[in-house]
Amino acid sequence: MQRRTFLAAGAAAAALGSTAYWRLETLPVVVDYPGRALGHWLRDRPSDEVSAPTLRAEVVIVGSGIAALTAAWKLSKEGVRDIVLIEGPEAFGNAAAVSAHGLAYPTGAHYLPLPSLESLHVREMLYDLKVILADPFGERPYYDERYLLHAPSERVMFQNAWQDGYLPVDSVPASERDQHVTFFRRIEALAALRGADARRGFTVPIELASQDEQFLRLDRMTFTTWLDEQNFTAPTLRWYLDYCCRDDYGRSAGEISAYAGLHYFAARVGLAQNAERGAVLTWPEGTSALARGLLAKADLSAERVLKGVALSIAGEGNGVRVAGVRHSGDAPGEAFVVSARDAIIAMPLYVAKHVVKGLSTLGYEASLHEPPYAPWLVSNFIMHAFPEEQSGSALAWDNVVYGSHELGYVVSTHQDIRQSRPDKTAFSAYSALADMTPDAGRRWLDTASASDLVSRAARDLRSAYGWRLGPCVESVEITARGHAMASPGPGYRTNPGLLALRKVQGPMHFAHADLSGYSVFEEASWWGYRAAGAITRRGHPFKT
Ligand SMILES: Cc1cc2nc3c(=O)[nH]c(=O)nc-3n(C[C@H](O)[C@H](O)[C@H](O)COP(=O)(O)OP(=O)(O)OC[C@H]3O[C@@H](n4cnc5c(N)ncnc54)[C@H](O)[C@@H]3O)c2cc1C
Repeated sequence: MQRRTFLAAGAAAAALGSTAYWRLETLPVVVDYPGRALGHWLRDRPSDEVSAPTLRAEVVIVGSGIAALTAAWKLSKEGVRDIVLIEGPEAFGNAAAVSAHGLAYPTGAHYLPLPSLESLHVREMLYDLKVILADPFGERPYYDERYLLHAPSERVMFQNAWQDGYLPVDSVPASERDQHVTFFRRIEALAALRGADARRGFTVPIELASQDEQFLRLDRMTFTTWLDEQNFTAPTLRWYLDYCCRDDYGRSAGEISAYAGLHYFAARVGLAQNAERGAVLTWPEGTSALARGLLAKADLSAERVLKGVALSIAGEGNGVRVAGVRHSGDAPGEAFVVSARDAIIAMPLYVAKHVVKGLSTLGYEASLHEPPYAPWLVSNFIMHAFPEEQSGSALAWDNVVYGSHELGYVVSTHQDIRQSRPDKTAFSAYSALADMTPDAGRRWLDTASASDLVSRAARDLRSAYGWRLGPCVESVEITARGHAMASPGPGYRTNPGLLALRKVQGPMHFAHADLSGYSVFEEASWWGYRAAGAITRRGHPFKT
């Protein structure tokens, strides 16, 4: 973690006592760049040589994101307890969160859609974590109501007024609304469509999706090309679909595979006994709640969870040797070596290429196969009061602004069921910087001043509240993620490097959302679950 703290002239602005003088840019700001300093050190280090006493384990898990923690939970459940987990530069990765100011709020992922019938691995996990309370593998599991998103779930500001939903309908011409209906009818048909291999065309995990040409051809064009071909021209629909691509994939529809654009809608079709279609699960701290639950279930002793980064991973006899250094914050410390029968490599591929020896001999050539990575900005506005809403509109969990380049803001205390509002809250504003190239976005994150970062982060909040925002904000905490997630551009389903890593038989097992070519909870956990399964099946030959 690399943290810059900017202590502001905010107190002076406050002392003026007039709302006219409130400038967000003068408030206290903290900026985190998770993994950046350690990542640069790792990339530029003179040598991988470390010498340290060797720690032995049956399995070493490299990383502590959702893929890694799913593997730890599943291995432990299946009786493999001799595990060492190397956290990496950021505990929980993109599922990290902060607990401070009497609040909990995410610095990455915030929700999980209801898992579909293909996502049995997620259902098993949610049942173990008591998020699903009954019928975990049935068509409609029963969920703990505390985690089902309450109404009002989302709203969009269109022509300076809020309306429910993400896609504007009020004040939208009938011809555009007709296109909305036609688009969703197409999605319904696509969601039910199966290939000649009897598999659904759109599934999460994507590894289980049909390989039929009718679906693969969609992966050879951009979503924009497909929408043009199909005459979906309505500006409201086009903005909404672009927003969805940026929100799930970090890039605009013009850079996203048409298959991925449709997959967003057609694949995530889970149902619940006690929630409406399309419901999602959420926690104040986002999916960090699940990460914590998985780690607790894995029940690893403190000395088996290393606060460290791997510098090199290489085959050693029939097993694997991982060498690395511990760290405290950004400072590298003492060396360690772990020798294990199996290694689960749950770090992103843009890091793995610097760490795993002989990656190209496994069929992954970074220069050809590395997916594009989108940079993201996650900004938590710590609020000591709720800003006044437009009359007739209520704050929703997710609040987006039509036409904006940003992705709106989520309210961390939304699931609070107290009668009266809490005194404080955190508004988490998201931006995928999709209006810049990924490299330009990373350069901007590296060089922007705190006040530039805050200005960008506050764009949607300013559209929503204008001058009423400033007096309610206590401080701003920004998380700048330079390589936040892999984006599924055309061809991602048939990327030969990713397909090769999926097939590696051990003793190295690759497990990260990157293997899917895009990043969501269910994909990350799929690869962790699958790696654990490969190890336990081999260790216990009676299992199929
Ligand atoms: C801003 C943002 C919002 C998101 N929101 C959602 C959401 O709401 N819902 C959703 O489903 N998905 C969301 N996602 C996608 C999210 O990435 C996945 O849900 C999931 O958390 C990815 O998990 P992972 O294990 O594949 O990887 P990561 O989270 O990338 O974890 C990688 C791990 O590798 C470790 N590591 C890195 N280098 C090393 C090294 N040298 N040695 C050892 N370890 C190392 C890191 O410390 C980290 O623990 C979001 C992503 C971002 C960036």
